[in-house]
Formats: sequence, structure tokens, C-alpha cells
Amino acid sequence: MEEKYQLFQKRIKEAASFLRLKDFVLKKIEKPDRILKFNLPFKRDNNKVIFLDGFRVQHCNVLGPYKGGIRFSEKVSEEIISILALEMTLKCALANLPFGGGKGGLKIDPHLFSEKELKKISSLFIQKIYPFLGSDLDVPAPDLGTNEKIMLWMLKEYQKISGKKDLAVFTGKPLNFGGSHLRKEATGLGGVFLLESLLKKLNFPSLPTLAIQGFGNVGSFFAKFAFEKGFKILAISDESGGVFSSEGLNPFEIEKFLSLKKTLSQFPAEKKISNEELLSLKVDILVPAAVENVINKKNARNIKAKIIIEMANSPVDLNVDEFLKKRGILQIPDILANAGGVIVSYFEWLQNKKKQKWSRLKVKKMLKSKMVRNFERLWEFYQEKKIHPRKCAFILALLKVAQKIENKI
Ligand code: NAD
Repeated sequence: MEEKYQLFQKRIKEAASFLRLKDFVLKKIEKPDRILKFNLPFKRDNNKVIFLDGFRVQHCNVLGPYKGGIRFSEKVSEEIISILALEMTLKCALANLPFGGGKGGLKIDPHLFSEKELKKISSLFIQKIYPFLGSDLDVPAPDLGTNEKIMLWMLKEYQKISGKKDLAVFTGKPLNFGGSHLRKEATGLGGVFLLESLLKKLNFPSLPTLAIQGFGNVGSFFAKFAFEKGFKILAISDESGGVFSSEGLNPFEIEKFLSLKKTLSQFPAEKKISNEELLSLKVDILVPAAVENVINKKNARNIKAKIIIEMANSPVDLNVDEFLKKRGILQIPDILANAGGVIVSYFEWLQNKKKQKWSRLKVKKMLKSKMVRNFERLWEFYQEKKIHPRKCAFILALLKVAQKIENKI
């Protein structure tokens, strides 16, 4: 992770030097505004006391309140949460949202805790950070290992301690507790809207073939919306392995199969494949929607897809970006491609603030228009500069943040 952190900082520096940013502006972006770091003593169901490491990093709020998920994962560390908070600042800026970047995390494997324990842990987490939260201050959301139920527990604890009834302090809530339509589907759906715009720009001659890695929230919704639009999905995988069909897979059938407590690799298809095989399939579009760094120095030369839509966070090792570009592979960077989730979070926040409830259709239309506009802005810049699309994304995002910093300091 240390190497990734340094490389990320290096890419930020390169984008800053392209923009000729003043030193103090870059310094402000490189360091988070605040790191809340705490130790959470917790008595388990069996009365054993354990200590959990928790973090909330507030990176930069020049564009608006800090916004970003809270993750429960064994891989949480101050460094990882800090880099993710910085990425959120860039993602919100690129998506033109009135939010800054933040991220939180607790170092636990949520699967090893009972529901009662998770509820208590969620409340304790909020007790540690609640003075720093607020709908105009810092607005958390779900992330890896957390979900709408946990957001509701957190919101209830926040309301209890602060005495405030404000729903907009958390997003990703259940629909009947101030949540928004399409919040769950938003990241996958946003990615499909972006893909459609991209194919139009490229005058892509036919409906493309796809391989999708990951069938969780992002991958499954991406697959289902892409399937509904008629795209041919040749392969899908998850951590159990993958399946391939030259005729195309139906993600709705896969979903039904998985609901019978089966694994994806058991799905009856033409061929079983490994995750590594999926990544090197001859398809038009590769969609890594699972975990980070799956495309790296070891396999970059095997990639045969023409386009990579980065739906996961950091699925491509930054070291191989230029190599892939030289090979003529077009990468659509994560901070643009998977912004659908934070965009609908923004819609949820806005609905709560205005005390409104938007229809599913309205949210869908607004998500589409935002994803398309954001993509077109980046595409224009990319066409003009011909530099790596990730660099384009960093430059456009940094420009927005930097202008505000200069005016504010
Ligand atoms: P999830 O936990 O719902 O699903 C993850 C999927 O990846 C599962 O199908 C799992 O089996 C698979 N997987 C795990 N390890 C794997 C491996 N080693 N090889 C292949 N597949 C593996 O998570 P999610 O919410 O779908 O998030 C996926 C990615 O998208 C993450 O990088 C996340 O940070 C990013 N992301 C998610 C959202 C969102 O709204 N959920 C928004 C932006 C970015």
C-alpha cells in the first residue's frame, strides 16, 4: 500500500505541475484537513473485551462538506483511509458535486461479528466522531463491509446524541428512512450510462462484448443494466471463480442461481474460467468491478480488451497505465466511472435537505445526465491533450479544487 500511496501522490504532483499549481495549493491537497483516530474498546457477546482501530479522515472541504464512506474491513489503516479520502475529494470535484472528500474505517472483519455486535460497534463509532459530523460538515455513506442498515443505526445514534433530527447527515439509508431510489444500483447503472456515451463517441460499430470481474453490488448491477441494453456478456467472475459463454450470460439467471446458496463458479455455463483468464479474454470491454490492483505488471501484457471501464476502486496498478495506453487500450478511470454512487448520494442529501422524495425515474434521468456530462467534459479534454485519461481526470478535478483553495487561503 505504501508504494501505491507514493505513486498516487506522484501522479497528483504531475497533474499539479501540468496546471502549474502554486506550492501552497499542492501542499494543502497533499495533506488531509483532519485525521480522527481512535481506539474503540468493545465487549463482545462472549464478554471478551477487544480493541478496535477506527479512523475518519476529512481531506478537504473547500467545495463543500466532507463526503465519503465508512468501511468495516480488516485492511483498514490510516494510510488507506487517507488515500481514499483524497480520492473522494477528486471524485466529487470531477463529478461537479458540492462536496469535499472524506473516508472512515474500522479495522474489523464484519463477517466475524453478530448483528447485535455490529449494531453496538456502529453506535460506538458514531459516539467517537459525532461532533465532527453534520449535513453541512461531514456526510458519511456505506462502503465495503457496511450497508444501509448500518447507516440507519449510525443515524439513530447521531440523532440521539446530538438531539438533531437532520436526515441528511448520512446517505445510503434505507428508502423508507430518508434514502433515495436507485442508491443501491447507482454505481453500476452510472457505469453503464458512461459506457453508452463512450461507445457513441467512438462510433462503435456493433454492441460490444463484455467481461465483468466481480458480481457484488457494483458488478451485478452493471451486468444487469448492460444485459438489459443488449450488450453481450461473455464472462462473469467473483471470488469463487468465473464462467464463460460464447452465446452470452444472463446475469438475472446467475443472480437467481446464487440465491440458492450456490457459488458463481458452479453456474452451468459453457466453460469455467479463473479470474486471471477472465482478465485476458478477447472481449471489447473489460470491467473490473471487484478489488484493487487486479491488472498489474504481471498480466498487463495479456490484456486483450480494447477498453477497460474501472468500476472498482484502483483495479489497475498505476505503474501499468502508460504501458496499457501504448498498447492502445483505453482506460476509463475509476474516479469518473464509479462516481454514480456518490452522485445519487448527493441526490439523497438534496432530497433530505429540501424535504422532498424524488421518483425513481427522476433520479435515473438526473444520474444519466450527470454521468454523461462528466464523461463528455473529460472526453473533450482527453481528445485535446491526448494524455492518459487518468491524468486528464486528475487535472480536471485538481483544477476545481485548486481554484477554490487559492480563493480561500
Ligand atoms: P461487494 O463486496 O458487493 O462485491 C465485491 C465482488 O468482488 C464480489 O462479487 C466478490 O466475490 C468479488 N471479489 C472479491 N475478491 C475477489 C477477487 N480476488 N477476485 C475476483 N472477485 C473478487 O463490493 P462492491 O460494493 O461491489 O464494490 C466493488 C468495488 O467497487 C470496490 O473496489 C469498491 O470500493 C468499488 N466501489 C463501490 C461502490 C458502491 O457503490 N458499492 C462505489 C464506488 C466504488
